[in-house]
Amino acid sequence: MNPRNALNFSGGPGALPECVLEQLQQSIIEVPGVGLSLLGISHRSEWFAAVVKELETNIRSLLGLAADYQVLFLQGGATQQFSMVPMTLLRGSAHPAEYLHSGYWSGKAIPDARREGPVRVLWSGAANGFSRLPDDDELGFSPQAPYIHYISNETVEGLQFHRVLGRDDVPRVCDMSSDFLSQPCEAERFALIYAHAQKNIGPAGVTVVVVRDELLKKAPDNLPPFLDYRTHVQAHSNYNTPPVLAIYVVLLVTRWLIEEIGGLERMARINRSKADLLYSVLDASDRFYRARAATQDRSVMNVAFNLATPELDKRFLAESLAAGFSGLGGHRAIGGIRASIYNGLTLAAVEQLAGFMEDFQRRQTRSALAGDFRSADKTLACHI
Ligand SMILES: *Cc1c(COP(=O)(O)O)cnc(C)c1O
Repeated sequence: MNPRNALNFSGGPGALPECVLEQLQQSIIEVPGVGLSLLGISHRSEWFAAVVKELETNIRSLLGLAADYQVLFLQGGATQQFSMVPMTLLRGSAHPAEYLHSGYWSGKAIPDARREGPVRVLWSGAANGFSRLPDDDELGFSPQAPYIHYISNETVEGLQFHRVLGRDDVPRVCDMSSDFLSQPCEAERFALIYAHAQKNIGPAGVTVVVVRDELLKKAPDNLPPFLDYRTHVQAHSNYNTPPVLAIYVVLLVTRWLIEEIGGLERMARINRSKADLLYSVLDASDRFYRARAATQDRSVMNVAFNLATPELDKRFLAESLAAGFSGLGGHRAIGGIRASIYNGLTLAAVEQLAGFMEDFQRRQTRSALAGDFRSADKTLACHI
């Protein structure tokens, strides 16, 4: 196994399972049973139609979806969904759609929705620096809203909702880009789920949309065809040339989830142990490491933290890189450290990181004691 890949804690594109990369490598030269390179197979071939069909079946079975849902593979990333959702559901609406402003990515979704119709921001975490998520009693959902939109896992800040929000009589729309297929998600309580592949389930280029048929009936008729979900339903996600490679890799990841991991319950258990391990290192560190997120809202996918000073953050990043870890730098919007521990990252890799973190703390504390630690942080010295 390529050791650098194994220790890639990147926030996105994220690390993929080794066995998926190996199958992909082989497919670039020759797809088994086809005899052609993956990059040169027609998207109109029977082979590709079967790939799309199997991928759809796998996602349906992983999520336990009923027949009245469509599963689509679109382009444009999650960002395109920030517009497609309100184009479909908000144009001409007298009532505002309700959005939660829980972090960096929901902050990107809201202005795009406002271009299409009225939006009410139900709650914003801006005042608390996006360090926590709202409780139910902070959220007054309206029965009249055309839909409610939120992001299940705020990738940048490392905040994750551990419950389903909203009301059952208002369509729920959720951006699950960074935790899709990381755990069971009660998919049938959502009217529309979207998730690009490149955090947790594949490479950039494809976005999975799971949408209830009912929701598309009221869509305006004058949408550009490419931005109308119904076009892609009719074309079986093959309206124009789709990203064949990206879709194929997502298929390989779903096969791995089903055959190797054994389903989403088991994936969730593995992901939970990885996250527990890192958070326990943070919590046992006497504030040498400081978790960004409030305890109850901590993300299982993105563990965001800081050290006492920006200089220590920098030293941690430099030394972790030298020790073989990559992708640990926080998002450019907020800095700090972020360990993204998506499905493809193994428990063994997380154990290595936990060990490195404990060791780094020991070494820093020792050098602070020895007096060669110049950025005089009191909390450091007094906890030795
Ligand atoms: C990364 C991310 C996005 C942006 O996705 P693109 O595919 O680059 O448009 C949107 N939402 C969430 C939750 C993300 O993590």
